Amino acid sequence: MKHDVQRRQNTQDALHVNAHQCVGCGTCAKVCYRKAISFAEDDKADIFQKRCIGMDSCGRCVDVCANNAIEVRR
Ligand code: SF4
Ligand code: SF4
Repeated sequence: MKHDVQRRQNTQDALHVNAHQCVGCGTCAKVCYRKAISFAEDDKADIFQKRCIGMDSCGRCVDVCANNAIEVRR
């Protein structure tokens, strides 16, 4: 896990959820094998950066989000 975190930080491809576009459907959390996505009281998805390995190494959540709510912030 430590290796994964280091890899994400090196590639600087951290993912963030655009709360205006997220409808809280939960699809992204279902495909995240790292269990990096949770939901706050507002039902918007939230990505736990220390668990997520980033777009370059995974990107599953981005692929399945029908609302294009998950973005890379470089
Ligand atoms: S798949 Fe997209 S719209 Fe659905 S909860 Fe995840 S970020 Fe939000
Ligand atoms: S990129 Fe992969 S590890 Fe990171 S939140 Fe999305 S599905 Fe989970």
